[in-house]
Amino acid sequence: MSAHAPPAATRLFHPDSIRLDSPAFRRDVQLAQADLEKQHAAVKAFHKTIQELQAAYDKASSLEASFASSLDTFVAETLSYKKHTHGALEHTVGYQSAAKLTAFAELFRELSAHREVLSSNMNACLSSKMSQVDERLADLKDYQKAFDKSSHDYDVTRDKLLRVDAAASTSKHTQQLETEAETSKTRFDGNRMALVTALSDACLTAFGQTPLEAMVDTVGVLTRYHTKVLGVLGGLSSYVDECANHVDAVHEEYKTSMERLQDDMMLADSSDALSRSASMNLELVEPTTPGFSTAPSTPHAPAVSSPSFESGTQRGERVRMEVEARMMQTRASGVVTTTKEGYLLKKSTNSYRANDWKRRYFRLDSAGNLTYQGSHKANGKPEEQTTVLLLLSTIKLGIDDSSRNAEPHRRFVFRVVSPERTYTLQAENERDFSAWVDNIYGTIATMLNLATSVVTSPTTNASGNAEDGRFLDDTGKHKHAGGADDRNNTVETDDAAAYAQTVSRLRSIPGNDVCADCGADEPVWASLNLGLLVCIECSGIHRQIGVHISKVRSLTLDTRVWSSKGTVHMFEHIGNSVSNALWEANATARDKPAPGAALAEKERFVRAKYVDHAYAAALPSPLSRFDDPLWAGVKDSKLDAVLHFVVARTSFGDAVDTAAAASLVRETNQRAVGGGDDSGDGDDDAACCSLTHLAACIDNPSSDAMLELLLQNGAPVDMADKPHLRTPLHYACIWQRDDAAKQLLARGGRELSAAKDKAGRTALDYAMMHGSITDEQLFVLLA
Ligand SMILES: [Zn+2]
Repeated sequence: MSAHAPPAATRLFHPDSIRLDSPAFRRDVQLAQADLEKQHAAVKAFHKTIQELQAAYDKASSLEASFASSLDTFVAETLSYKKHTHGALEHTVGYQSAAKLTAFAELFRELSAHREVLSSNMNACLSSKMSQVDERLADLKDYQKAFDKSSHDYDVTRDKLLRVDAAASTSKHTQQLETEAETSKTRFDGNRMALVTALSDACLTAFGQTPLEAMVDTVGVLTRYHTKVLGVLGGLSSYVDECANHVDAVHEEYKTSMERLQDDMMLADSSDALSRSASMNLELVEPTTPGFSTAPSTPHAPAVSSPSFESGTQRGERVRMEVEARMMQTRASGVVTTTKEGYLLKKSTNSYRANDWKRRYFRLDSAGNLTYQGSHKANGKPEEQTTVLLLLSTIKLGIDDSSRNAEPHRRFVFRVVSPERTYTLQAENERDFSAWVDNIYGTIATMLNLATSVVTSPTTNASGNAEDGRFLDDTGKHKHAGGADDRNNTVETDDAAAYAQTVSRLRSIPGNDVCADCGADEPVWASLNLGLLVCIECSGIHRQIGVHISKVRSLTLDTRVWSSKGTVHMFEHIGNSVSNALWEANATARDKPAPGAALAEKERFVRAKYVDHAYAAALPSPLSRFDDPLWAGVKDSKLDAVLHFVVARTSFGDAVDTAAAASLVRETNQRAVGGGDDSGDGDDDAACCSLTHLAACIDNPSSDAMLELLLQNGAPVDMADKPHLRTPLHYACIWQRDDAAKQLLARGGRELSAAKDKAGRTALDYAMMHGSITDEQLFVLLA
């Protein structure tokens, strides 16, 4: 019937073929069966691929369903986000377009449903039809077996019949054989007919309508499905365009909001925790970024003030100034704020766990407390809090070499060295490292200033115990120690203008416009004993090398230090140019670090300069055996000459027993006893005094600066002379040097004024002997 059907199958339907059993007939059956097997294999292959396709569609259907539900979840999360951002995103394009995505979810659910229908349709039109072909082929095998058996039976009976003797052709046995042969021939013909019919049927099924129908149905189902999908996708494409536009808008919005966020972050970084204190006086902060403060109102102002335009030095200085400002604020208001907080790695101090680092949460506050939380206790007790004592601590960069062991060299490490123990800490990145170091630096510096300016500065008001006695207690609230009064505040305010003048005076001293060590602009820190100004970074190094070498104070915050005339005079006589001529006499341009040099490079130079005296000018050799250039320098108040001895590390603390010293002791004694000779036991050979004694009785315009320089560099304030056991304060009163007496009292205090000489007299006794004290302030101090 079909033009494509094989020839063997066609001939089977010829009437002759069915009527006659012949070799041609048998060959045709074999050929037809072979054709049928091939066709069956082809049909099975087609069925298999269709089944695979169906499985893929099933899988796609379930994926589309889960895609739709994940879209739903995404949209729900996006919409709920506004709750946690307090509506910040509510008006954004991103928020609005999230709603569009629900439409996509719907469409994908529809696609998924269509695919499910497709899958079941494909199943329906294929499986039943394919099983028909299988059944026909199975039937055919049964008919083949029956045919083979009857063919064999017929052969046997026929053979028997043909062997019968011709004489016995009419016997009963022969008749029986003839009947059997007839019967088996009839059965054989019947089975042959059945086989041909089954074969025809199988061929009709396998080559005919059934597989064609299945294929046409399948293609029809697929076509209908894809047409539907196209319709759905057509609706989708308009949404896609709309959403793509939204996404572009969201991208633009994201860019601008990221830029805004970055600006905010930079702003937050530049003012750090400062921004949290709304009441903070910004004037304290602004002058610390010299050079960038000129255009605060231009449109580019945020960029100008952003940290990326700052050098490390500027940033460090700014942070430390901010810390000072915060701490002053806390000191005034009693309100403690957090200066910096975050995670640091803390190295175990247990030597058995040398390389053990634990992540701890640290917090630095404006009262100067650095605290961290210990590990969680297994028994559920609250975390233990440890406070690092910052007041007596220094900060050092890098790991302690002696304890490095076999550990790799870690980055971002610094140490807080307190008298009791060393905390070795590691920040998580460069920026955090700088922030911690700068903030802790600033805190320590400020605490030192607050605590020690009280000790070193002379008094400024009438009270004998004029130091205001304020200090920070553990909670950061200031408390008053005894008789101190609130006058200090007014004194500070009244002195503000004079103080500003002092600062500009100090800055105008030759060389003081730049840091004495690295040349950075506008140094705001001063070394009180060396008489020079340095930048914040170098001041940190000075602080590290120790107060026995350099005593660092803030030029802008330690108002009390600079209310001392002697101190200011001393600076006016020295300054960076004069002192560097001595300290850096042998330094080449290459030795000196640039303002922007790395901290380590600056530290190397500062240590070489002040600790190792690597570049110091050599002392001039004495002209003769009797020449004492140090004594002469003090006597003539030549500060540069005496500074040379400071640079040369000459001790100012020793007793001087030269002829000149003996002569001073004798002269002073004569004045003390009014020219009389109650010095009967005078033993000039044993006479000695200190350089302070000499400076205390000199009277010239620079003598207060001279005395300051000596006292700042280790000259004793209370050494007794020999043989009269008189202190420098006795000398100042005997020589009626009121200013010197006040300078000495500022350091020696009550004990010094109570000291009695060999004759049992105090300094006040001698002051009274020489007439009434005109300086009321001094009288109060002595009494
Ligand atoms: Zn410097």
